[in-house]
Amino acid sequence: MDTIPTTSGKRGALTVDSPQPELDHIDGQKPSDHCAVVGYIGEEPAYPFILASLKTLQHRGQESAGIATFHASSINARKGMGLVGEVFNERTKDSEYLLGNVGIGHTRYSTAGSKAMENAGPFLVTNALGHIALSHNGEITNADRLREELLKQGLTFLTSSDTEVLLMEFARDISLHGLNGGVKIAADRLKGAYAITFLINDRLYAMRDPLGIRPLIMGKMDSGYMVASESCALDITGAEILRDVKPGELVEVTRNGIISVLTVPSRKIAHCMFEYVYFARPDSIIDRTEVFQTRLKLGRILARESHVEADVVFAVPDSGRAQALGYAQEAGIPFSEGLIKNRFSDRTFIMPTQQSRTAAVRLKLNVIQSEVRGKRIILVDDSIIRGNTMNHIVSLLRRAGAKEVHVRIGCPPVVAPCFFGVDMKTKDQFIATGRTVEEICREIGADSLAYVSIKGLVESIGMDRENLCLGCVTGEYPMPVSEEKYPRQKELESFTP
Ligand code: SF4
Repeated sequence: MDTIPTTSGKRGALTVDSPQPELDHIDGQKPSDHCAVVGYIGEEPAYPFILASLKTLQHRGQESAGIATFHASSINARKGMGLVGEVFNERTKDSEYLLGNVGIGHTRYSTAGSKAMENAGPFLVTNALGHIALSHNGEITNADRLREELLKQGLTFLTSSDTEVLLMEFARDISLHGLNGGVKIAADRLKGAYAITFLINDRLYAMRDPLGIRPLIMGKMDSGYMVASESCALDITGAEILRDVKPGELVEVTRNGIISVLTVPSRKIAHCMFEYVYFARPDSIIDRTEVFQTRLKLGRILARESHVEADVVFAVPDSGRAQALGYAQEAGIPFSEGLIKNRFSDRTFIMPTQQSRTAAVRLKLNVIQSEVRGKRIILVDDSIIRGNTMNHIVSLLRRAGAKEVHVRIGCPPVVAPCFFGVDMKTKDQFIATGRTVEEICREIGADSLAYVSIKGLVESIGMDRENLCLGCVTGEYPMPVSEEKYPRQKELESFTP
């Protein structure tokens, strides 16, 4: 059996400091981002690099943030509710507590489990291996069944999170069967999406699920190595991109380089198309594909598929910007700014009702009257999920004197839930469920509406269709989805403001 030694050779304490109060924020009209994971090992203190990369990945989760570092035989962790800068700042003096040259970080948006502080990452456990800390992006679809099995075997759980199930499964299997054998067993038992970074004492590992649904990329710095959900987090630390973690691959990230420990075989790959459409930052490169170029191409293809005579192209800020630019370039219609977003409104208000959410949308956007009055407008966004925001924007433009408003969407209609870590729940939340495009057009009050085709989406990403997950636009998933999703969804909904 292979073993996981610590270089220190000692077992120390495992401490968590979580002093932040729970905050809440507006329940947005777009699917919420999932999570970000990072890890660093090298010659310098890990904390500043992990903090910088988490701030860069804030778009992937605004609910909680956490960092765990290994120092002097201990893993110290600090996590709290809120933005990265709210949890970690000069006042909290974390650099004095989170010592050590190896660590991991996490930002969270809950897709399984409640929004409680207890579910903030990284998760920690101590077993025969020593101290383990784990950050997870994705969703384990059979978490409920595995939790029951592990409970029957005497393990205890402190939270409702699927990440704790994943951690306990990994920790138990590696402890019993060594690293290689344990990871193979865990990967066979765990269904769903997981891109993870984890510490076993002072050793840093990273792994992607066998379908490669969520992204994970590695980079080299002068002082060491980093792994992160997106390449933009490597850029910010000055790291040079090495490569993506392959689907099913477990790597050990060491001070001297990356060791590919094993790759769990898989018959297929299923990268999430929504990373390219909406979630990832446009300056990120995921699986060797730049997100900005994909979005530009989506706009170009959309223009070819659904041309309409107009005077100007606007983006819904900021999500539709690259697609709108591509549309304008292809159609030969001027691109302009017609809508201005209040960047500081998102987390200002607690909005528990639909009425108050609508008021919150009004606070987010305003029009530039001179760019709108008397114009035939093409309004481009990356997706429509519930439709409330688009309805509001169209009516804003009309009130400002727009002659025509033609809506173009750089993603096919979302008609099915996501089971793999994106906060798109039951079908009745989607405006496209049970409605034709004409009916949706009437609902949002536009003069015309068109979505990019699935073929156009696949062409924009530039990968083979069979290597992409298109589940939320086709209802066909890359793995059998468990019937247990629905009860967990209901639990989630009860926590959604
Ligand atoms: S169902 Fe949609 S959002 Fe979920 S992983 Fe697949 S493509 Fe991504």
